[in-house]
Amino acid sequence: MRDQNCLFCKIIAGEIPSSKVYEDEYVYAFRDINPQAPVHILVVPKEHIASVAQLEESNSLYAAKCLEAVAKIAKAEGLEKGYRVISNCGEDAGQTVFHLHFHILGGVKMAEKMV
Ligand code: AMP
Ligand code: ZN
Repeated sequence: MRDQNCLFCKIIAGEIPSSKVYEDEYVYAFRDINPQAPVHILVVPKEHIASVAQLEESNSLYAAKCLEAVAKIAKAEGLEKGYRVISNCGEDAGQTVFHLHFHILGGVKMAEKMV
């Protein structure tokens, strides 16, 4: 199901242009418009799920498929030296788009480490 007002649902539907890097039955992935690393890709489920907080047994396959896609994309992008996978969940974490997404950040040795 899509959310008519959701930016990422519109990107998945092709109504807003994006730089696609990967797509399958469950997942769409595209380059972040404001990259924070040489490689910065967003991996999103094709189902509108607002965030990690909305995951449950009935929709968790989408999360698994997103993480499978992360592994494939990272290999295709040549990130064998490592990368970071981030999902901001909710306001305090700084989530700005309320459609579940996993950031892939890589292509540089990261200095800052929060955890
Ligand atoms: P978050 O702050 O974790 O919710 O991440 C949302 C991300 O979406 C940010 O990194 C934005 O730069 C990115 N973003 C917003 N609009 C677009 C867009 N039209 N195309 C690609 N990335 C976008
Ligand atoms: Zn959505």
